Amino acid sequence: MISTFSPCNVFLLGPLIAASLFSSYSSGFEWLFLVFICIMLVVLIVWIAVAYWVYKDAKKRNENAVLWLVIVLVASWLGLLLWFVLRPPIGGRKTTSLRYCPNCGREILFDANFCSYCGKKFDSYL
Ligand SMILES: [Zn+2]
Repeated sequence: MISTFSPCNVFLLGPLIAASLFSSYSSGFEWLFLVFICIMLVVLIVWIAVAYWVYKDAKKRNENAVLWLVIVLVASWLGLLLWFVLRPPIGGRKTTSLRYCPNCGREILFDANFCSYCGKKFDSYL
């Protein structure tokens, strides 16, 4: 049950389970139906928030944000896991790990905050 748990499954099975609960306990158990609806709403809200976060994160990293939004919504936690594995660093994928210091022209690390040769500090490395 835990391994197959995902918002998608909840939304597929949810109405069926809720309907069967509602029909077998037609009196006195309506609250169970309401609790179920509330849980489904919370799951939905949390999942939309997670998907939105991935969307924003993908945009920030120059990835196809809409594609990742769909992946996370469809594949749920598996999509989220995939995003954490495959997401590039902020600012997009690096083509090289080295660049040249604008001050002295020697090779330094791409994301260095200062040049290790001349000591020049950089505010940003864009
Ligand atoms: Zn330098």
